[in-house]
Amino acid sequence: MKMKIKTHQKSEKSDRIKAAQPSINLRSGSLTTATPRFGSTNGGDHPNPRGIKAYAAQTATASLGPFAIQRRDVGDNDVQIEILYCGVCHSDLHMVRNEWHQTVYPCVPGHEIVGRVTAVGREVEKFKEGDLAGVGCMVDSCRTCSSCEQGLEQYCEHGPVQTYNSEDKHLGGVTYGGYSKSIVVDEAFVLRVSDKLNLAAVAPLLCAGITTYSPLRHWKVSKGQKVGIVGLGGLGHMAVKFARSFGAHVVLFTTSPEKGADAIRLGAHEVVVSKDQGEMNKHLNSFDFILDAVSAEHDINAYLNLLKVDGTLTLVGLPEKPLGIAAFNLIGRRRQFAGSMIGGIAETQEMLDYCADHGIVSDVELISIDQVNEAYERMVKGQVKYRFVIDMASL
Ligand code: NAP
Ligand code: ZN
Ligand code: ZN
Repeated sequence: MKMKIKTHQKSEKSDRIKAAQPSINLRSGSLTTATPRFGSTNGGDHPNPRGIKAYAAQTATASLGPFAIQRRDVGDNDVQIEILYCGVCHSDLHMVRNEWHQTVYPCVPGHEIVGRVTAVGREVEKFKEGDLAGVGCMVDSCRTCSSCEQGLEQYCEHGPVQTYNSEDKHLGGVTYGGYSKSIVVDEAFVLRVSDKLNLAAVAPLLCAGITTYSPLRHWKVSKGQKVGIVGLGGLGHMAVKFARSFGAHVVLFTTSPEKGADAIRLGAHEVVVSKDQGEMNKHLNSFDFILDAVSAEHDINAYLNLLKVDGTLTLVGLPEKPLGIAAFNLIGRRRQFAGSMIGGIAETQEMLDYCADHGIVSDVELISIDQVNEAYERMVKGQVKYRFVIDMASL
């Protein structure tokens, strides 16, 4: 899969604005000048007076609440989207609560965005006003490094521009995500969305979908393989659906025995309650591939021991604290321990098209924007069935 994206032409205006902006070291997470002003702009002195309704966290401990943001004017290659639905990813919660120690406040999360195109720039070819469109975890990348050349923009050597909490090269400050009424994104990072599927249930495909589809494809999960999925949350339930659809024998590991019946309905052949050591032991040395989508600290060694010779355990979960790996659990059977981050733009489109062809969507619980804080509390307790999606009409 190879895709070439047009190199972004920076306008004189954006250079001028950028020069006046705070410098944010996104790698170290340190903000080297003042944070954006509350209710005002994205941190720059952009003269655009329009306020777009959004929901933001002002600190790591505050609830999310109403906030006004700016979006850039529609440039030649840009697509303006009225956001209709936005999924709630556990990454939103990690970021809002500064669990990865890099959050710039105010923080407007949201990277599972679907909506309707309301305007397009002169050079836009893929979209027209009125089309459905999606935006996932990235809104730009360098487009010239070897990763970008290979369609792996998520691994851009200069760091992809994430949909939220990345440096905003147009307005200054940081990018703001999908808990908002609209967004403006270069068409190279906008996805086509089928009108055959329930739109609210498509939103989570933009992160939970691609984050599980990509590693299952990369490690060639297919018929005849025994595949484990760890954690039945937003990512986990999509992983179960995809692994089943790709023909594997699917075993779901959960800490929540009450999710067993749902796991089977979603496509798992077997369910193992991971606290039950006897049940775990029955699966020792038997898996070709395991995808770990757990959001919190847990014993990764328990799953490494379930891999057969040359089996792979791939981590997509991003717990706050490091995971300890016992070396013997890897070397004994030449096991592999890997990681994977979302997916490239072309692969995200491939996944969306696959879902449209196979009728795959997320199982969602639709909420209004003022329920988002409560939704976060339920997410921490593992009580999501299986993705919250915000109805943006409520904002
Ligand atoms: P989620 O919906 O909250 O699901 C996480 C699941 O993990 C829970 O439903 C629960 O499943 C299990 N779990 C939670 N606490 C646990 C604990 N203490 N011990 C064992 N299991 C526990 O979260 P999500 O949105 O799917 O995201 C999962 C993780 O992936 C997050 O860390 C997120 O930041 C990360 N993520 C990574 C990428 C990437 O590109 N790699 C993309 C998106 C998200 P059971 O009840 O079944 O045990
Ligand atoms: Zn996400
Ligand atoms: Zn790049």
